[in-house]
Amino acid sequence: MPELPEVETSVRALRPLLLGRTITSVRNSWPRHVITPSLAELEERISGRHIEAAGRRGKFLVFSLSDDENLIIHLRMSGHLSVVDAGEPADAHTHTIFTLDNGRELRFRDPRKFGCVYLVHDPEEVLGKLGPEPLEPGFTVEALQERLRGRRRVLKPLLLDQSFLAGVGNIYADEALFYARLHPRRTTDTLTAEEIFALHSGLQKVLQAGIANEGASITTYVKPDGEKGNMQNVTAVYDRKGQPCPRCGTPIERIVLGGRSTYFCPSCQLL
Ligand SMILES: [Zn+2]
Repeated sequence: MPELPEVETSVRALRPLLLGRTITSVRNSWPRHVITPSLAELEERISGRHIEAAGRRGKFLVFSLSDDENLIIHLRMSGHLSVVDAGEPADAHTHTIFTLDNGRELRFRDPRKFGCVYLVHDPEEVLGKLGPEPLEPGFTVEALQERLRGRRRVLKPLLLDQSFLAGVGNIYADEALFYARLHPRRTTDTLTAEEIFALHSGLQKVLQAGIANEGASITTYVKPDGEKGNMQNVTAVYDRKGQPCPRCGTPIERIVLGGRSTYFCPSCQLL
């Protein structure tokens, strides 16, 4: 599933293709893509709106439109957004298409069909429950410490909890825990101040690396232009079961934690 760095990479690629454009119509072959409003209301409210900004919050793409409309898209498992010429054939997995005023289209291709489209006046309606952005200046070590206070949660599932921290998913949680030398099963009430500092640094390091490498193309993720990112080539532990730990050479282990594949070094990340 695309995480913060993959979504950020998509936003950065789409922004110059979309800013200043006007959405002229919508076509949809999978109505359940549109969570709110109804498909008919979406078409009516979005047609003629200018795209004024393209941003990201957690794993959501947020397009600010004229007249206080906000188009919010979540790619979920297999979603992919691209901007292509209207004449280019769309395959059967392209379920939602936004027609633009320059002969091009913003296409939402989504083979697994778990993606979500929202059109709302107030973005908080969709984004209100998200935790802080890990790369925003306000997310300091002290802010992380404060969020951990009084909680007793297992680290890995907590990092995946979008209401605790926005944007981190399976890949970057495992990578951050590796750099912080923390076992994924550690509970938050056992963390020392040094370990919280290390966790904060680990999160910053791997999310920034993910953006610099334009995301990880491990399962289905590709950039809007169809090219792969590079992060999968530089991960330390994720998807590397049996391969030597880059720090100590011990084979990387895989366990299932909270239903998710979890990779770690049994020597560097002691329980
Ligand atoms: Zn190791």
